[in-house]
Amino acid sequence: MPDSIPQRFSDLAALRRSVAAWRQAGERVVLVPTMGALHAGHLALVAEARRIGRRTVASIFVNPTQFGPNEDFSRYPRDLETDLGLLGRAGADAAWTPAVGTMYPPGFATRIEVAGLTEGLCGPFRPGHFSGVATVVTKLLNQVRPDVALFGEKDFQQLRVIQQAVSDLDLDVEIRGVPTVREPDGLALSSRNRYLSATERAVAPNLHGVLTEIAAAARGGAAVAGPINAGQAALEAAGFQVQYLAVCDARTLAPVERVAGPARVLVAAFLGRTRLIDNLAV
Ligand code: AMP
Repeated sequence: MPDSIPQRFSDLAALRRSVAAWRQAGERVVLVPTMGALHAGHLALVAEARRIGRRTVASIFVNPTQFGPNEDFSRYPRDLETDLGLLGRAGADAAWTPAVGTMYPPGFATRIEVAGLTEGLCGPFRPGHFSGVATVVTKLLNQVRPDVALFGEKDFQQLRVIQQAVSDLDLDVEIRGVPTVREPDGLALSSRNRYLSATERAVAPNLHGVLTEIAAAARGGAAVAGPINAGQAALEAAGFQVQYLAVCDARTLAPVERVAGPARVLVAAFLGRTRLIDNLAV
């Protein structure tokens, strides 16, 4: 395993000079955007980046504009030194770590809104979230100018929103999804899992269990309402507060009553103070 510390950039001009030199040399550049607090899910994206490109840039930026006023921006875990070490061991070439003032200098006034895809699922529960994500990701793509950018299927709605924005805005980059990395008991890895108490951590894998059952029940084209109601009841009995549990068209994210094409079962639920999301292909 390579284990050099990646070159760290906090200055946009310096980052652009390095990436431009790579591109001029014909090297394919892959971007992995993150908010830090890296875990094996993020490192799977870096590993995929190294497979498909010559140069891997990981960005670490806890983006204030995608957090709501009552969300966890101020307590979101930050540990840059550990993250840089992990990126080095994973073989990333560069870490782009802009300051908030670099991303949003005084007078910053633009937001990107993606309609449709943001209206359901997490959208109503996190007003402004996807606009914050679409805006920051568009900026990251323009700053780094990668050939490919990788996003986890763990955040499936986010992946679809970014694909839509990139297509609508004619951004010259390929967006690819990477399968979710899970703990052995099925819990999707997430930086927020560290908020869970031991009791909550023991209950958390129920989320994946319920998604698995619904996906299996929906697969043959049977009505999904029954399995969804049963799944919601099981989650609430286990102590979750469910925000949504739905089977949706994998492209439009519109809820479906029966599965007829590519579909996804998606969930968001609070366990204590921690909001968890997950999804599975049907
Ligand atoms: P975050 O730092 O949470 O914004 O995540 C950065 C990227 O890593 C996003 O594209 C996420 O979808 C992805 N990611 C987060 N958790 C996982 C996971 N368990 N498996 C795969 N990708 C993940």
